[in-house]
Amino acid sequence: MDTVLVTGGVGYIGSQTCKLLHQSGFTPVAFDNLSTGNKENAKWGPLVRGDVHDRDQLKHAIKLWQPVCVIHFAASAYVGESTVDPRKYYNNNVAGILSLLDTCIEVKLRNIVFSSSCATYGIPTKLPIAEGSPQVPINPYGRTKLIGEMMLKDYASAYSLRYVALRYFNAAGADIDGELRERHDPETHLIPRALMAAAGRISELIVFGDDYDTPDGTCIRDYVHVTDLAQAHVSAVQHLIAGGKNMVANLGSGQGTSVQQIIDTIERLTQRRVPVRREARREGDPPALYSDFTVAQSELHFTPRFSDIETIIRTAAPTFGLEVANDILA
Ligand code: UDP
Repeated sequence: MDTVLVTGGVGYIGSQTCKLLHQSGFTPVAFDNLSTGNKENAKWGPLVRGDVHDRDQLKHAIKLWQPVCVIHFAASAYVGESTVDPRKYYNNNVAGILSLLDTCIEVKLRNIVFSSSCATYGIPTKLPIAEGSPQVPINPYGRTKLIGEMMLKDYASAYSLRYVALRYFNAAGADIDGELRERHDPETHLIPRALMAAAGRISELIVFGDDYDTPDGTCIRDYVHVTDLAQAHVSAVQHLIAGGKNMVANLGSGQGTSVQQIIDTIERLTQRRVPVRREARREGDPPALYSDFTVAQSELHFTPRFSDIETIIRTAAPTFGLEVANDILA
């Protein structure tokens, strides 16, 4: 069985990807420093406790497990935090990938799948956003992911590294079999926070800005189910080991959903009220983002199967002690 090294492999998207790698006949080896990941998520293969900044640890894991590919998830991923603590982002996301790529070259591990982000686009000039759109990020998180992409491109042409960079839109939802819960600490993302407010675990959801130039004034995002994202990573690994070309692809649902629409859908599905307080815009937030995912569709056979908002909310709700009755129609 081929082995795949998964940095950040017990995190939110990493653990879901390990599950699907395992189902596809790979042995996923999670490499994680457990700073935000959860070791209970190491269910589908070995867990190596290690940090991507530590080249000796990386080298040791690669020599031991002989992976055919590495998927690099280990990174910091909060837009808001990146504006107040950019140092953390340049360290974890830029120094982290530098250490990983240099190690890969040294040990001749050539195939890399990279977690990039729609945050690399900044404020789009055109919607839906295609891969050729200008990349002008408006926050440090997006800049660190763009630097990662640039490094991959340069390293690929100089050192014959091969890569797939996947630009996620908003990862959301939880494992459809309920084997993994959507859990972040601290939790800052919209859907979990809105569910927490509906469950009474926080007093209210703060809506960051209702004066955007969008139909209801709140921000529009493209929410994509974590299982759909994970499946795309398995396809990207298969693409690289079959000798496929270097590529960049958006991963989204292609649908734009506003903050207000998320709140309305949660209220309808859970039959609970989401208490809301409206506040000023959050720094670094573009008004509307949604994807054109035709590249992923044609090159990686990507089809969003679980990325409708109802399925995302139905799968995420149990984490917060909420159930969505089956007879509540979408
Ligand atoms: N948002 C909000 N209240 C929250 C968290 C998020 O109004 O408590 C908004 C945020 O301003 C953005 C959208 O919801 O427009 C999605 O934010 P999230 O942090 O989930 O993901 P991001 O788009 O920043 O990656």
